[in-house]
Amino acid sequence: MPARGKRLDLDTPIRQYPAASRSFHRGPITMKADVIVLGAGIVGVSTALHLVKRGRSVILVDRRGAAEEASYGNTGIIQTEAIVPYTFPRDIAKLIKYGVNRTSEANYHVGALAHLAPLLFRYWRNSSPERIAASARAYLPLTRLCLAEHEALMTEAGIAGMLRRTGYLRIYRGQAQLDEAIIEAERVKTTYGTNHNVLDAAGIRQLEPHLQGRHVGALHIPEPVSVPDPGRVGKAYAELFVKLGGRLMTGDARTLTRSGDAWRIGNVEGPLEARDAVIALGAWSDDALAMQGVRVPLFVKRGYHMHFRPRGNATLSRPVLDVDGGFVITPMTRGIRLTTGAEFGRRDTAPTPVQLRKTEPMAREMFPLADRIDPEPWMGRRPCLPDMVPMIGPVVGKKGLWAHFGHQHWGFTLGPATGRLLAEMMTDEATYTDPFPYRVDRFN
Ligand SMILES: Cc1cc2nc3c(=O)[nH]c(=O)nc-3n(C[C@H](O)[C@H](O)[C@H](O)COP(=O)(O)OP(=O)(O)OC[C@H]3O[C@@H](n4cnc5c(N)ncnc54)[C@H](O)[C@@H]3O)c2cc1C
Repeated sequence: MPARGKRLDLDTPIRQYPAASRSFHRGPITMKADVIVLGAGIVGVSTALHLVKRGRSVILVDRRGAAEEASYGNTGIIQTEAIVPYTFPRDIAKLIKYGVNRTSEANYHVGALAHLAPLLFRYWRNSSPERIAASARAYLPLTRLCLAEHEALMTEAGIAGMLRRTGYLRIYRGQAQLDEAIIEAERVKTTYGTNHNVLDAAGIRQLEPHLQGRHVGALHIPEPVSVPDPGRVGKAYAELFVKLGGRLMTGDARTLTRSGDAWRIGNVEGPLEARDAVIALGAWSDDALAMQGVRVPLFVKRGYHMHFRPRGNATLSRPVLDVDGGFVITPMTRGIRLTTGAEFGRRDTAPTPVQLRKTEPMAREMFPLADRIDPEPWMGRRPCLPDMVPMIGPVVGKKGLWAHFGHQHWGFTLGPATGRLLAEMMTDEATYTDPFPYRVDRFN
């Protein structure tokens, strides 16, 4: 098990962390490393692993355990077809549909609109066909490597048996929606080489005999791979990191300061120092950067999950996305996991799981679900930038500071692949792709 250190009180404002701040004044021994990676979600853990494999001494710091935020509760699909990002709707019908805030696939908080409006405007501007194509081109080299990088790490971590090579299903309730989806899937196939099979209702039943309800057909996306517990994958990678000599510690990224030639951070066991620091804090990355005077247009798409027991002997063997309903059901170790689409709100306001309330009856119609397993819905935050492309690279004007966040809906898919890219940049290796599209100052 990785050394986890003491757990911090997550609600305590930073000024009140006595252990960390007192230890600065008493001058305890400073722990040194080549790199401090801040954030132990799938993105930070993967970065730390790639760096330690390249001979760097690395301390991975999180205020809680590894993979306990977004990287814990997601749908667990390694989306090898993840190339064209989710965009902000640009046609009037869709804008009205989302504007009235009654759909199950998206939800927004009216009270957050003033904060979100400038960010959503930039998201809208980046959703033009030309800019979507540019984002898709940025994703191609990353997506090509996503499965191979996971496979290598999973094999080394001894969890390759978790990979389920079943693809996933996108099912449709209306013929018009299915027809439109087939045209779009063909277009993406021609442009980017992705694969899909079109299924009618009988074809769906052949793959998933216990699916029920009013579906006219589906697209089976055959190559994506899923896991029954993405949080376990993140923890297994963290354990591998420690086995390879990395140190996993508890600390708060908001204590990051520049001290001479080094980056320094408070930690419950004493201060840490390194020449390089990586901000891999997912939805919280903007806080740590703002403290260094760097602004990034990060926003969150919140999402929820709930587990259910299957009824009787009903089984499900792959993730199933109900496209019109905007939710996914997936077989997980804990039960059938229902995950929701995007909720636009402030990162830190209380959960409002209206999408779970709306989609649970639809999910029950689709699959024989028994009782809820979790006492409360889980909420996670997808870290998003206006062009939906992650930031991977040096923070301009801040020597030794690196950014690695903004993986939006695809962080589980891409963490190991983008972790490799950043590690190559940081160790002056030839990079497997040109890092220019992911540069940190592209919105300035
Ligand atoms: C409902 C849902 C379903 C999804 N399904 C999929 C899917 O099927 N496939 C896929 O590829 N992606 C999926 N995603 C997206 C994916 O989960 C995220 O993109 C990914 O987990 C982001 O990883 P991360 O490491 O950047 O962030 P996180 O996992 O959120 O990690 C950030 C870390 O930073 C730490 N931290 C924050 N602040 C501080 C601080 N001040 N000091 C120290 N540590 C701090 C946190 O504790 C946390 O460990 C889904 C997301 C959601 C919400």
